[in-house]
Amino acid sequence: MIEIQNVRKSFGPLEVLKGIDLTVQRGEVLTVIGGSGSGKSTLLTCINGLEPIHSGKILVDGTEVHAKSTNLNKLRQKIGIVFQQWNAFPHLTVLENVTLSPRKVLGMGKAEAEVIAEKQLKHVGLGDKLSTYPSRLSGGQQQRMAIARALAMSPDYMLFDEVTSALDPQLVGEVLETLKMLAEEGMTMICVTHEMTFARDVSDRVAYFHQGIMAEIGAPDQLFGDPQHPETRRFLASVR
Ligand code: ATP
Ligand code: MG
Repeated sequence: MIEIQNVRKSFGPLEVLKGIDLTVQRGEVLTVIGGSGSGKSTLLTCINGLEPIHSGKILVDGTEVHAKSTNLNKLRQKIGIVFQQWNAFPHLTVLENVTLSPRKVLGMGKAEAEVIAEKQLKHVGLGDKLSTYPSRLSGGQQQRMAIARALAMSPDYMLFDEVTSALDPQLVGEVLETLKMLAEEGMTMICVTHEMTFARDVSDRVAYFHQGIMAEIGAPDQLFGDPQHPETRRFLASVR
């Protein structure tokens, strides 16, 4: 379970998270939508401890992310994160890229890491690309490789930050299908996305962020069908 309790975060004088309260249960798929600069990416980077917070608490399975005593490297092993773009190591094959973290971070032997990496690459539909170099992959394939790389660490949680935003429109679908598959398998996920159809179809709940505040959260039918907050209505009207 991820518990976010009254979290505030500023960059200099700019407060970008203004007291966020949110709990994500195991197995839940939460999508986060909202305008540019509303704090969506910042929330994700705070959850896995990439960014400090100024007040409040974030607990992952009861462990306080920002406590001094917390072993962040260990905690991050259970939280996979995938961004808009990931720069794979160009001189390594797809398989080698995916085995890197299990070997370096988990200390796995080459053979064992390869078994896991191959399994995850097959899982995301890249079983025929193991010995290909990343530059030979399409954008959608590169994003699926990034997802496989995160999954190779056997995370309990996955955070996705606009993983389809940098893709050509015809490549978006294959990546969303991969996310949908993970959701159906029961992965606990927080997905920041601009893909409203995906949010509507795949999420258990949708949160709408506006200027550092979670203005509204609800089941997709409720949030898209009967938004309560005027800012949610305005945002949805602008993206439709
Ligand atoms: P987008 O939809 O454009 O990705 P977002 O909701 O993800 O937006 P954030 O990236 O979380 O927004 O940014 C929230 C605010 O914090 C923005 O005003 C942004 O300029 C600011 N910000 C983000 N990262 C930093 C940083 N490292 N230093 C200073 N300001 C930052
Ligand atoms: Mg962002």
